[in-house]
Amino acid sequence: MQQGFLQIKFWGVRGSLPSTLMPDKWSLHFENLLRGYFSAGYRDTSHIAKYIASLPTPHLGGYGVATTSVEVRSPKTQIIIDGGSGIRYLSDQIMSGTMGSSKGPFHIFMTHFHWDHLIGLPFFTPHFVPGIHVHYYAVQPELEQNIRSVFRKPFFPVPFENLSAKIHFHILEPRKAIVLNDMKITPYQLDHPDPCWGYKVESHDRTYAHCVDTEGTRATREELGPDLPLYQNVDLMYFDAQYTFPELAEKANWGHSAAQVGLDIAFREKIKRVLFAHHDPGADIQQIMDLQQQTTEFYNWRLQNKAAQEPAVEWEFAHEGLEIQI
Ligand SMILES: [Zn+2]
Ligand SMILES: [Zn+2]
Repeated sequence: MQQGFLQIKFWGVRGSLPSTLMPDKWSLHFENLLRGYFSAGYRDTSHIAKYIASLPTPHLGGYGVATTSVEVRSPKTQIIIDGGSGIRYLSDQIMSGTMGSSKGPFHIFMTHFHWDHLIGLPFFTPHFVPGIHVHYYAVQPELEQNIRSVFRKPFFPVPFENLSAKIHFHILEPRKAIVLNDMKITPYQLDHPDPCWGYKVESHDRTYAHCVDTEGTRATREELGPDLPLYQNVDLMYFDAQYTFPELAEKANWGHSAAQVGLDIAFREKIKRVLFAHHDPGADIQQIMDLQQQTTEFYNWRLQNKAAQEPAVEWEFAHEGLEIQI
């Protein structure tokens, strides 16, 4: 990896509950893909690889099953934000030894403790390896108590006391940065019940803003107040887009947002690129593609009506396994 770059991998992008399509919906999906193959003029097996390569990733496996877990790497540091079921894929990669050292230490930053953000933690295998150090971080003072309660009978067979790794807990101060080697991480409050803290991750002039889960009820600079810096000087923002814009009004106070809200903030604060995620557990591939279409329409309108000093914004909907370098 080139010096100075942040590498971000989205191991889980689903919201609320790990979810995939029922077999009947997958059958319909495959039928449509096969129709596409023939209507593109392909006829024999030698064209299959070419056809598959021509399809966007979400057409092949959907947007993913696993709930939120994001890995952020700088040249010298690796952190993990949240332990949704996606953290199991990362754990498998760590234990396979293909990404260098599998000895850690590992740094897990928790945004909050809703099920979808911690359901994968018992499947993060480094917890069970002697000699490994796992560090947990959160603003919420109940961090240790909450993590201990994940590893507890009858919910999980291995109690916290029997974990072989050494587990450390660090309570963060709101809006105060901590530094890990070449990475600076600062928690800012999001608009979500219970509450929830996003993270601004900075390294070598590159900045990632993790803004899931949030409703985005505070949108103006004045409303955001002390949390405004989360959205400023950002190369990549990960934003909650669980709902359509009309759904957002119906589901007020549920703690999730819509792409239009994130785009509006991104234009105003000159955020270069936005990834939308926390996909609704009930949303199938077509519904997320419809959301993208609605977002395109809003984006085009917003682009035509933007202030002169606002640059254009790149955006896309995240799928599981997506990796971005900034
Ligand atoms: Zn969530
Ligand atoms: Zn939540």
